[in-house]
Amino acid sequence: MTDLELRREIIATALAMNEIRINRGKSGNVSARVGAGFLVTPSALAYDSTQPEDVVAVSPGGEATGRRPPSSEWRFHRDIYFARSEVMAIVHAHSPFATTLACLGRGIPAFHYMIAIAGGSDIRCAPYATFGTQELSDAALAALTDRRACLLANHGMIAVGDSLASALALAVEVEALAEQYWRALQIGEPKLLPEAEMERVLEKFRTYGRNVEQ
Ligand SMILES: [Zn+2]
Repeated sequence: MTDLELRREIIATALAMNEIRINRGKSGNVSARVGAGFLVTPSALAYDSTQPEDVVAVSPGGEATGRRPPSSEWRFHRDIYFARSEVMAIVHAHSPFATTLACLGRGIPAFHYMIAIAGGSDIRCAPYATFGTQELSDAALAALTDRRACLLANHGMIAVGDSLASALALAVEVEALAEQYWRALQIGEPKLLPEAEMERVLEKFRTYGRNVEQ
């Protein structure tokens, strides 16, 4: 894929986030790894008026190249790519149900076996830190340990993947799980699956891939 194609795919992914309602307005951001650095959506620009040349290239040292400043959350994108060599794309959204749980400081426990899609037996909620700070990046990275997604307290969620399509698809799954968990909480305390069962599910996901039971 050329640089221009990747820039177009980043914009298309950001637009898709809003179309499928996991994000609204200009909050949220999207990036993809390129070489040692990455490309990320620009700061404070509506996605539907973003052009390929507005997408910002950021080096591993944090130097931005382009006609616009990078998303204010470029730090956690940089730190995730540095720490996790398998991650090729990152989607960050303020999706309504994940954000609702995050505003209560609640992660998503093993109330449904599909939680394994994020790589473990829960989806953690990182403690609150101001947007754009190194503290937020550190908290996000810790919450993402052995996981492909996390919530950010009083803020939103992050989903990572080996492509923009897989990061977006995971963000959609996480939001669906957050909604199901939220709904279950309205009428009672959801029954959680035991760790041994989640181990079984995780093993099945590893063996058969993500298409099992979907
Ligand atoms: Zn945000």
